[in-house]
Amino acid sequence: MSERFHFTLHATDGRARTGTIHTPRGDIRTPAFMPVGTAATVKAMLPESVRTTGADILLGNTYHLMLRPGAERIARLGGLHRFMNWDRPILTDSGGFQVMSLAALRKLTEDGVTFSSHIDGSRHLLSPETSMEIQRLLGSDIVMCFDECPALPATEEAVAQSMRLSMRWAQRSRDAFGDRPGHALFGIMQGGVTPELREESAEALKAIGFDGYAIGGLAVGEGQAAMFGVLDYAPGFLPVDKPRYLMGVGKPDDIVGAVQRGVDMMDCVLPSRSGRTGQAWTRRGPVAIKNARHADDPRPLDADCTCPACTGYSRAYLHHVFRAGEMISGMLLTWHNLHYFQELMAGLRAAIAQGRLDDFVADFHALRAQGDIEPL
Ligand SMILES: [Zn+2]
Repeated sequence: MSERFHFTLHATDGRARTGTIHTPRGDIRTPAFMPVGTAATVKAMLPESVRTTGADILLGNTYHLMLRPGAERIARLGGLHRFMNWDRPILTDSGGFQVMSLAALRKLTEDGVTFSSHIDGSRHLLSPETSMEIQRLLGSDIVMCFDECPALPATEEAVAQSMRLSMRWAQRSRDAFGDRPGHALFGIMQGGVTPELREESAEALKAIGFDGYAIGGLAVGEGQAAMFGVLDYAPGFLPVDKPRYLMGVGKPDDIVGAVQRGVDMMDCVLPSRSGRTGQAWTRRGPVAIKNARHADDPRPLDADCTCPACTGYSRAYLHHVFRAGEMISGMLLTWHNLHYFQELMAGLRAAIAQGRLDDFVADFHALRAQGDIEPL
């Protein structure tokens, strides 16, 4: 590997930051939005198309890939980058969140989680050690610690016990990861909505030492106000010189608020999932393309957007292919949504670098408040 993983902070504006994460597979401009390639594909998109939207890094899901097609098989076929034809950085989650949300017959012990596959019922163990091994086999550039996400609602005592288990697992993840130049291991802060628990978690992680730090246990249904409440203080417990990753976020206004509060990286299935269900995200807010008001509208989704869906097709066409169940519907709307999310990130990065984030955010909210263009 030509270069060790490291983070360079370029500028700050309030609590917001812009910088670059350097990896041997390429740089990641922050704040960064990571499209999700759950099953070794960003659904409905070619990898080179994802790249043209401006994505520097993709996220892969350990839970899904270990079950199908299997981490050993991917390793035999040259690793996840080669397998899915994406040569830039990949971050993999630990499987901890999805095993708790998707798998059947789960049994949680100090050692890890045993569970049955939601695909074929086969039994598996995910632990700090097995998660590190699976992510190594995949060839992930940024590996996430194996942690436990308590189901909500939970008592503060339950959240504290879960957080302390995750901190013991963080140490085991660090030990199992070992020394892998060019690859990074991120710790995950837990602690729910209790500042003292968040700080205890951050201190435990910093004592172990990681290449980056995720803020976990948010975007799990607590609502934007509660999430921003935690983000008002939690990033302050983390090192200034390491990237901060907010997992599973989010809607455009969640992203803007998180960036204002000092988050550097995010991921979400929203732009691709919405693309397949007929929802477009634009600078003026969400647009439901199935709505009959688009049926005769020759105008593009967003006249100022340079994506293929907006430069080549009308709202009427997008409406028609969605209603007809044509595959190109998901392809075009996903492309537009990913393009919009990456344009938003580019705008945030430029605004932070120029010290005008407040103006950018005011414009962002003002345009959304106007709503979608009037029907013809
Ligand atoms: Zn577009």
